[in-house]
Amino acid sequence: MSSETGPFAPQAAEPADDDFRYLAAFQELVLERSHDLITVLNRAGAIVYASPSWSTLGWDPDALVGMPVVELMHPYNIARAAAALGKLDSGQPLAELTLRVRTSDGRWVLVEAAGSPIASANGSVAYVLSTARDVTEREELRERVAEVNALYRIADAIARATGLDDLLAEAVDTLVEATEADRASVLLYDETGVMRFRAWHGLSDEYRAQAERYSPWTPDDVDPEPVLVSDVATAGGLPDYLAAAARAEGIAAKAFVPLVHGGRLLGRFVLYHDEPHDWSEREVLLCRRIANHLASATVRTTALEALQTSSEQLTTIMRTVDEGIVAQSRTGALVYANEAAARLIGFDSAAELLAADRDAVLGRFEILDEQGEPLPAGELPGRRALRGEASERIVRYRDRQDGTERWAVVRANPVPDAEGGVALSISVFYDITAARLADAERRRIEERTRFLARASELLSESLDYEQTLGSIAQMAVPSLAGYLVVDLLDEDGSTRCVAAAHVDPEKTELVRSLRLAYPPIRETHPVQQALRTGEPQFLPDLQARVAEMAQDVEHAAAIQQIQNTSGIVVPLVVRGNTLGTISLGTVPPQPRFDERDVDLAVELARRASVALENARLYREAQARAHAAEALEFVDDGVFLIDRDEIVRLWNPAAAKTFRVRPTKAIGRPLRDLVRDWDSLRERIEVAPEPTAGAGRMQTLPVDVHGDERWLSISGVLFAAGTVYAFRDVTEERAVDELKSDFVSTVSHELRTPLAAIYGAALTLQRNDVHLEESQRTGLLDVIAGEADRLARIVNAILWASRLDSDQMGVEIESCDAAKLSRNVVNAVRAHAPGHVRLTVDTADELPPVATDPDKLRQVLMNLVDNAVKYSPDGGEVRVALSQVGNRIRFRIEDEGLGIPAAEQSRIFEKFFRLDPNLTRGVGGTGLGLYICRELVQRMHGRIWVASDGRRGSTFFVELPMSGP
Ligand code: ADP
Repeated sequence: MSSETGPFAPQAAEPADDDFRYLAAFQELVLERSHDLITVLNRAGAIVYASPSWSTLGWDPDALVGMPVVELMHPYNIARAAAALGKLDSGQPLAELTLRVRTSDGRWVLVEAAGSPIASANGSVAYVLSTARDVTEREELRERVAEVNALYRIADAIARATGLDDLLAEAVDTLVEATEADRASVLLYDETGVMRFRAWHGLSDEYRAQAERYSPWTPDDVDPEPVLVSDVATAGGLPDYLAAAARAEGIAAKAFVPLVHGGRLLGRFVLYHDEPHDWSEREVLLCRRIANHLASATVRTTALEALQTSSEQLTTIMRTVDEGIVAQSRTGALVYANEAAARLIGFDSAAELLAADRDAVLGRFEILDEQGEPLPAGELPGRRALRGEASERIVRYRDRQDGTERWAVVRANPVPDAEGGVALSISVFYDITAARLADAERRRIEERTRFLARASELLSESLDYEQTLGSIAQMAVPSLAGYLVVDLLDEDGSTRCVAAAHVDPEKTELVRSLRLAYPPIRETHPVQQALRTGEPQFLPDLQARVAEMAQDVEHAAAIQQIQNTSGIVVPLVVRGNTLGTISLGTVPPQPRFDERDVDLAVELARRASVALENARLYREAQARAHAAEALEFVDDGVFLIDRDEIVRLWNPAAAKTFRVRPTKAIGRPLRDLVRDWDSLRERIEVAPEPTAGAGRMQTLPVDVHGDERWLSISGVLFAAGTVYAFRDVTEERAVDELKSDFVSTVSHELRTPLAAIYGAALTLQRNDVHLEESQRTGLLDVIAGEADRLARIVNAILWASRLDSDQMGVEIESCDAAKLSRNVVNAVRAHAPGHVRLTVDTADELPPVATDPDKLRQVLMNLVDNAVKYSPDGGEVRVALSQVGNRIRFRIEDEGLGIPAAEQSRIFEKFFRLDPNLTRGVGGTGLGLYICRELVQRMHGRIWVASDGRRGSTFFVELPMSGP
């Protein structure tokens, strides 16, 4: 339709009346029949004419007259409409304008409008004529085509896209074209849960930065609805910063459309208009459809990408994992293997494994179960999986060539096919060889620790070291070694085998006899090396060292027969002293020793050394205990002092000599117990060490509570102090003294009478001297008297010697004591000095005495003789006899020199004589009283003396009465 056809079109010529009427009627008809909305507006924009077609929008055309035309227009179009009117008012025609026009019931229809200015007679614009056509249907159609096109393009883009980013970029462009939006963008949630721009069209960085902060939905919205903003300037709901950013970006309207897939919000796409825009349902619908496509495409693409990534990852993983993975087809053929599987099976690469012949592969190995029993191939989890059973087990693969063994946990699962059969079996191998080894190592350590603990226990159980070492040998073989020998070093440097064991009991004897026949004496023998260096000797290959050990060909052959493959020799060392060695050996099938076994052997040796030392200490302690026991009984005094001279040992003999009980002595300083110890110590010879023997015995006087005791003493220094041993020689020494006194006394006693006899005899012989008869008789008396004296001395000596040698028998008989006493007194009186009076006093009815009369005579003779002899100033010597109980008592009393109380016990000792000063030179042998005591004792009697030491002595002899 042309704008020139309006009712008020300028006229080129004035028409005729009829023509005009006809024309008018025609125009009227056209106007009425026209579907176009024909409207005439005045310059103020008010409607002055509306064609009947307005009624199609529900309007009464007449009612529209006077209404400003903008009231019929969509508010968003008013600005454009005003601009168009202004253009028309200035006389320019308006070609085409798409607007939304309101129907009377409030709907909006899309019209395509054109306009023409109508000039007045003066040429200025008086009216505007507008024709408009409802293009809703057409637009709808166009939109539908565009939609289909858009959907197609999206689908195409999805199909063509090689990756998600391509897809999204394509989608954004398509959206802009399909929706006539000015801009578009797609945002997806990233892994941190923030929606990020993934593709966009016409958006600045600044805007995107702001917009990314916002999402109309939360990630867990179940059914998020599109959010439509027609005008950011007026519509609420957007945060201020975003509205501001939109305005700054020149965005007036936007639509947020959620990308949802499977109930999950993935992100959004956003359409933007630079002008406010009413989002139609169709648009929204389209958006949602596109969104659906996009969402599922996004998911698929993401999934694909992920799949791709994961399959790459999987391949990488498969390539790098330690788990071997193989797939077997139904026939058992390998269809997949990763590198680890290839490595585990002993191939350089998976490709090589896959290419290899299956039987050949299996043939390389002996397949064993956990216990080492052969495992049939059918029982392998892979094979079982082919039969539909998932299983897992430990499988050992022993390489037939080199005997190495690998352990693997094998797990296999069947992969079902469509028919429910088994398509594949997937086996996963996990090599646990290292773990097994570690486990074996741990067990080995445990075993060894237990062994050491048991060894320590055994070693500390017994103090019989040879027995202990023997049981260690038994225990160590075969758990630790196949061969064990313990050699101990003797003092002379030779070795002595004290324990031997071989895993083969029959060879134990061989080992022992071999050690006897061929002790490890060679310098190069590891035992000697261990003894010399104190270091353990490790022989990883023992047979290679036979030459260093063997002494001859036979020895070498025997060593080979013992079959030790490797050996360890450890020294037994205690406080720097090497006591011996423990030799350990391995015997096939035991594995050879390694360095760790050396450590264990050293530990064992350390414990054995301690046990040996304990045994030795115990033996010493035992010996010491025995010695201490022995010390209880020895007559020799023994005492031990520590370095501080505190008494630590004090035997009974020492106690007796020093008169201090052991309980009092032990723990006290020696100088508290022994007077003058400080000076004594200097004089005692002390040997510097026990091995040197005791020092030379010194005989020294020691003051014991005022008594002088003579000790023959010496000492030995030892680590903890000094031991002194002594003998109390006081008695012997006294006897010795007496003996030497005796010799001088007797020689004097003999010389005196001999001189007298000799003198008398010489005088008698002289011819030149005339002797009177009385003189001759006197001289002869001297000779007889002195001879008698001599005889008595000699007699006494004879008696004493007979008593000593126990040759003196006694013959007891009943005899008359009074008569015998009188005879004795008479005999003495015969040659007694005149100033001594001798008397005998006996009871009237004295019973007979049971005695040997010769011996009793000898006793009484000695006592009466002494009484006379030691009464140099004369006086009475009285012999009195009495009955005391059932005994006869002889009492010989004199008034002589007396005997000091201190000496009274000693005068009966052999050779004992009082100090000559006390006896005024009276001679004697010191044997008389000794003989008396000995004889009286033999006759079952007793003898004693009483004297005040100044005047007179009284000797008593008591003998049994003769029986009735
Ligand atoms: P001896 O030959 O010296 O007399 P004895 O054994 O008879 O030897 O006596 C020992 C010592 O006892 C004498 O040396 C003397 O000192 C002392 N003795 C013995 N009898 C008497 C006595 N009756 N009076 C004093 N002293 C005596």
